[in-house]
Amino acid sequence: MMTITLPRTDTTLRPGKLLCIGRNYAKHAAEMKSDVPDTPMVFLKPATALVRSGGTVEIPPQSQEVHHELELVAVIATGGRHIARAQALNHVGGYALGLDMTARDVQQQAKDRRHPWSVAKGFDTFAPLGALVPADEITDVQQLNLSLTVNGEMRQHGTTADMIFPVADLVAYCSTVFTLEPGDLLYTGTPEGVGPVQAGDTLVASGTGLPSLEVTVE
Ligand code: MG
Repeated sequence: MMTITLPRTDTTLRPGKLLCIGRNYAKHAAEMKSDVPDTPMVFLKPATALVRSGGTVEIPPQSQEVHHELELVAVIATGGRHIARAQALNHVGGYALGLDMTARDVQQQAKDRRHPWSVAKGFDTFAPLGALVPADEITDVQQLNLSLTVNGEMRQHGTTADMIFPVADLVAYCSTVFTLEPGDLLYTGTPEGVGPVQAGDTLVASGTGLPSLEVTVE
């Protein structure tokens, strides 16, 4: 099982669950022809989907259309249930760049059949995660620029200022459903500009104050 280390403290964390938020940016909801939700839309990925920066994203044989979704990831350092919104960011130990890889064709089939998204979102290597930066080095988590290039070409850029539900709301909301545990990861949704990747592509994510994340596709 993969472990992650919080910088500076050297605290080793084991991601128990990956909480992922859908449709948290209005322009992405629009490009997917989806409505903006009035409560956070949450789905889960297994920890086996994780791959660290420098690793490889595998296109599974079940999909002809794997998309990148660039996301800010919050790492839970202090667990809890029913966390108050005002305390929520105190439970976050660090931030990183992440990619919510999505088998879009498999997801569309699931939507058509009213099936869950677990397969479309949960394949091995579908959760790239960059290096962590301590939370206290991020002055304002809702003022970060995020960008993604594919083979050097800009594909996504956005700002966390455009999140429909800010990180504090997401942590508080998720903690009303799931007990949050140290090491849990929260993928906070993607800005617009999602699109397909192909074998041989190199994806590089960048963000204000965040270590860059690079993966190749095969
Ligand atoms: Mg996403």
